[in-house]
Amino acid sequence: MSIADNLKELKKETDQYNVTLVAVSKTKPVEDIQEAYDAGQRIFGENQVQELMEKYDKLPTDIEWHLIGHLQTNKVKYIAPFISMIQSVDSLKLLQEINKQAEKNKRVIDCLLQVYIADEETKYGLSFDEVIELLRSPEYLELKNIRIRGLMGIATNTDNEKQIKEEFYELDTFFDGLTQSFFRKDDSFDELSMGMSSDYKIAMEQGCTMIRVGSTVFGKRVIKHWKNN
Ligand SMILES: *Cc1c(COP(=O)(O)O)cnc(C)c1O
Repeated sequence: MSIADNLKELKKETDQYNVTLVAVSKTKPVEDIQEAYDAGQRIFGENQVQELMEKYDKLPTDIEWHLIGHLQTNKVKYIAPFISMIQSVDSLKLLQEINKQAEKNKRVIDCLLQVYIADEETKYGLSFDEVIELLRSPEYLELKNIRIRGLMGIATNTDNEKQIKEEFYELDTFFDGLTQSFFRKDDSFDELSMGMSSDYKIAMEQGCTMIRVGSTVFGKRVIKHWKNN
């Protein structure tokens, strides 16, 4: 199936759940992204700053770029002028730097806090307690040029659907709790990003508002370094 066909199939499912699709284009060439764009897709996710910058320069300006991978503080300045959403915020320090660079660019940058839900050592993210600590801190309350729009989580990479379901369920429950306790008067806390190609159906059933899907849109990622494609 073509990229356009894949998007059309996915749209049937996302429409049913009223979920936003972030097409994850990491490692894929600009031609593939253009093809998805021509089929109507406007939101794309990348996980590396340099790759994102080069693609940003070559593609239509009305694309909404989401950063979904670990972000180093010293690289925030490169994406601050144009990034639509940073989904992978995993520390107060990073949030403070995003705020600083957003202010320089006279912008307010939408962010998601990445929450650690997987039963794996390698994944980045905050624990539930760390999220609460961050939201309670006076340093966070001072930040005027970022807006926390919600949470992002990655489930364990496993065939055990029950486990994935439980991880998403916990994150959804936590999200609802935060909405009640910290964002009662702020209805812009409204995004729950969970689910990728292998588990987006489970994520939609568990109440996500956004899925991040790569290989189901663009095909398998075989080559690691996108420029050598
Ligand atoms: C790569 C990636 C995805 C998409 O993965 P697929 O399995 O190709 O759908 C989603 N989220 C994050 C954080 C990723 O790094």
